[in-house]
Amino acid sequence: MPTPDIMEKLVALSKRRGFVYPGSEIYGGLANAYEYGPLGVELKRNIQNEWWKTFIQRRSDMLGLDSSIILHPKVWEASGHVAGFADAMIDCKHCQTRMRADHLIEDFFAAKDHAINVEGKTEEELDAIIRENKIPCPVCKKFDWTPVRKFNLLFETHIGIVPEAQSKVYLRGETAQGIFVTFKNITNSMRTKLPFGVGQIGKSFRNEITKGNFIFRTLEFEQAEIEYFFDPDESDWKKLFSAWQQSMWDFVTHVLGVNAQNLRWREHSDEERSFYSKRTEDLEYRFPFGFKELWGLAYRTDYDLKQHMKYSGVDLSYVDAASGKKFVPHVIEPAVGINRLMAMVMIESYVEEEGRVVMKLPAQLAPYKAAVFPLLANKPELVALAKSIYDDLRKDHMIAWDDRGNIGKRYYAQDEIGTPWAITIDFDSLHDQTITVRDRDTMQQERIPIAALRQFIADRL
Ligand code: ATP
Repeated sequence: MPTPDIMEKLVALSKRRGFVYPGSEIYGGLANAYEYGPLGVELKRNIQNEWWKTFIQRRSDMLGLDSSIILHPKVWEASGHVAGFADAMIDCKHCQTRMRADHLIEDFFAAKDHAINVEGKTEEELDAIIRENKIPCPVCKKFDWTPVRKFNLLFETHIGIVPEAQSKVYLRGETAQGIFVTFKNITNSMRTKLPFGVGQIGKSFRNEITKGNFIFRTLEFEQAEIEYFFDPDESDWKKLFSAWQQSMWDFVTHVLGVNAQNLRWREHSDEERSFYSKRTEDLEYRFPFGFKELWGLAYRTDYDLKQHMKYSGVDLSYVDAASGKKFVPHVIEPAVGINRLMAMVMIESYVEEEGRVVMKLPAQLAPYKAAVFPLLANKPELVALAKSIYDDLRKDHMIAWDDRGNIGKRYYAQDEIGTPWAITIDFDSLHDQTITVRDRDTMQQERIPIAALRQFIADRL
């Protein structure tokens, strides 16, 4: 189970070992922005690839997509983001701290061991809760707030060189709308039959005011979203919804290796749920700062396609080839942030034991699959054999090389970044063509032929 101080340790390890760096650090940093370093980019990409394999490649009812970050501005009017994609924020008049009103309230009650959720409350209701409980500023401890105000999360920019109102566009706040606006082209160009889903992974942007929980919530993030289209007369939405819940749960527990005890489902209350959604459930993970949304699942009915029909004037109905029935499909939407999955995976894998730090990442997620060590760096014949093994394995996998210091230190360094296997080439290797493979988790070593190494790794991935 994650310990409270794990975030500090992970932030430090991430920077020291090249997973995640603070954003724009040489200019003093940029809040809620991060750079993914050489190891972080591998871990993030591996999570992405597993998502793609699970939900697109291995399913016959799913298709992939890569839509634009900048869509026609009307898309965001139709989707409701221009009018309603907003957080309620509040400023401390004494120390100028700006924060989300819902976070202020939730943290205040969480500190009293009284978890409450205020999503869906109006500005007036949030104001009232803050006043009634005299919730102080968490920074200066004064009670001197501005009224709660709405703040739109969409990032605005302009096309062309003249910043006129007509040229205003938005960076996408979610990837999902790209799926709806492409729906007609997909059904026209692909042989699709309901039910089927379209999934994509790409950057989304939100002008978030956050408490800086590392990469949990950032200004830009990699979103992985699916719209699963179906005919409500033919498919039972409750069954489809449960099947998606199971798929998401299986992915997190089996593929990402998360302990089920750190996961739970939370259903949105009527107040919290969007008016067009018939059911919304969040899969939550026990982050060190509390159970928080990891992955949202919502039954959005035919709301989105109908909104785009209204705003674009284009018919987005689906025609069933067999029966000729024409209708607007309904959708179920599983939506997750890859970066949030990565934060969870790092928290879940971080272990301190027997004087070492180990990141017990599932092997398929680990940045390096193996590390190759020549026993001594100053023996050319050892180095040459080790290099040939390193070059051979690198054709298929990311592999680390280390010839510095003693073997114990090299193991320690690889454990810390989650490398599952360490391969040592010693003097016996020169004669009998065998090497030692040391397992990260058990620390057991076994001697295997060099010729069997590729298969050894392949069997375990
Ligand atoms: P939250 O309540 O945490 O702000 P949300 O309900 O606004 O999330 P959705 O709009 O449902 O989130 O987005 C789907 C998923 O995208 C979330 O479950 C989360 O994993 C991810 N996500 C949303 N915002 C961010 C962000 N700023 N940084 C990283 N991931 C995000």
